[in-house]
Amino acid sequence: MPSYDPNNIFAKIVRGELPAYKVYEDDRCVAFLDIMPRTIGHTLVIPKSQVRNILDVAPDDLAHVMQIAQRIAKAGIKAFGANGVTIQQFNEPAGGQVVFHLHVHVIPRHDGVAMKPPASEKEKPEALAEHAVRPPEASVHVPIGERVVPDYVGAELRVEERGPGPDRGASDGR
Ligand code: AMP
Repeated sequence: MPSYDPNNIFAKIVRGELPAYKVYEDDRCVAFLDIMPRTIGHTLVIPKSQVRNILDVAPDDLAHVMQIAQRIAKAGIKAFGANGVTIQQFNEPAGGQVVFHLHVHVIPRHDGVAMKPPASEKEKPEALAEHAVRPPEASVHVPIGERVVPDYVGAELRVEERGPGPDRGASDGR
């Protein structure tokens, strides 16, 4: 297997050298919207560790990425009113991988609606910016580490971790 290239696009997103529409971040992984989404809400979950794909990731890191993928899947179903979710993960060119930093696709699905072909259409930045903070009524600013990240999964985590408090979602007037 070829070695990991620390200058791949997702490594740059992890280091903050490239922008991304982040919807979740912790000390071990980050999730952000795919810029060529196959459905509305198509999100990628990646580890912060420098790993190429499922063949070189540490089992613990993989388990964490999948736990977050499950949270994103649940939050995405709520945020986008989806009926289901498709999870995809590709390894090496023969396996369909294009970006060589491990990532799990979380793709909300609606009954009877096909996914667009891979990398077929770049989404408008303003649409991605809006999708990243859905649903509007639950949109809150959740401190993650030292940064403040507005995100729909943050809203979901807030519910899970603290319970639905009386002021939930009210602080920013949305
Ligand atoms: P694959 O390696 O086949 O799983 O596909 C890589 C995915 O990354 C594709 O769905 C692309 O649309 C997506 N992608 C590529 N560059 C970016 C980027 N800068 N931000 C978000 N998603 C990206």
